[in-house]
Amino acid sequence: RSKEMGRSGYCFYAGELARRQQHLLSLNTQLHHALERDEFLVYYQPIIDLNTGAMVGVEALLRWKSPEDGMISPGVFIPIAEENGLIVPIGDWVLDEVCRQLAQWQKQGLKLYAAINLSTRQLWRDRMVDKISDAISRHNISPKDIELEITESATMKGPNSIESIMAQMHERGLNISIDDFGTGYSSLERLKHMPVRTLKIDRSFVDGVPGSPRDANIVTTVVQLARNFQMNSLAEGIETPAQWRFLLDLGCLFGQGFYFSRPVPPEQIEAMCREDKRWSLEEVEASLLLP
Ligand code: C2E
Ligand code: MG
Ligand code: MG
Ligand code: MG
Repeated sequence: RSKEMGRSGYCFYAGELARRQQHLLSLNTQLHHALERDEFLVYYQPIIDLNTGAMVGVEALLRWKSPEDGMISPGVFIPIAEENGLIVPIGDWVLDEVCRQLAQWQKQGLKLYAAINLSTRQLWRDRMVDKISDAISRHNISPKDIELEITESATMKGPNSIESIMAQMHERGLNISIDDFGTGYSSLERLKHMPVRTLKIDRSFVDGVPGSPRDANIVTTVVQLARNFQMNSLAEGIETPAQWRFLLDLGCLFGQGFYFSRPVPPEQIEAMCREDKRWSLEEVEASLLLP
């Protein structure tokens, strides 16, 4: 009988579905113990000044090393943590850990800012901005060294007006960026008045440049929009020198992506700084012209 069911596409699919459900359930259970078991770590991806090729900052990206399933992508476990509310204590941990790391780097003379992702659940929490300020003063760093990443879609929903949360952040001297810009439908009229330092152009558009005229148009428009609003433009997901060239010629100011570096453990950021690592577009273009 089970053979018959196995042969029918529907039952096979239902089996797959049940297995996936089971897996998500198990991740959910494991996630409840991950903090106390110290299973999280933060990786950092360099943020590059596209004009000079120098690293100016890093984005903090959470990693979960589950003893049962190995490294699990935040794309998988962040949605679960948002659903079950664990994103709040996990987010507190990230905030504290990144401030601690920044303080340590500053003692070593490293000049970098750190971008931290915030999910909507965290943003809507009571006294969230106080919590951020507390973490910063606990580690004796400056709010200027932090950029808080809020996704474009998070600016469009929520019980409290995002404007008032952003205003509080801005008053405390915290920088704000809009993450995954171009994938939501934020109002340009509202955006114009937000105290935003950086627009992060979503990877899905950067993917298509310079080849796809549609993506090239979108990226061009966002870079111009940022300039008009006196915000910085940053392109996510740069994987080739051709993308870097295209963005640089447009006047996009900053970038990050596998071409420069994947997200790496903090020691590797230190190593790059020690050797004064710089990426050079001219050099790579010259080498590409060689036969
Ligand atoms: P995000 O904030 O948009 O982060 C950028 C994602 O793009 C990262 O994935 C990064 O590894 C990936 N990426 C960077 N450059 C490239 C590239 O050149 N090519 C490709 N294919 N991918 C690239 P990651 O680390 O898996 O994180 C996924 C998402 O999980 C993040 O998207 C963010 O929304 C969320 N996330 C990560 N850490 C945290 C956190 O501490 N708190 C919260 N609330 N969310 C987080
Ligand atoms: Mg981000
Ligand atoms: Mg992003
Ligand atoms: Mg993205």
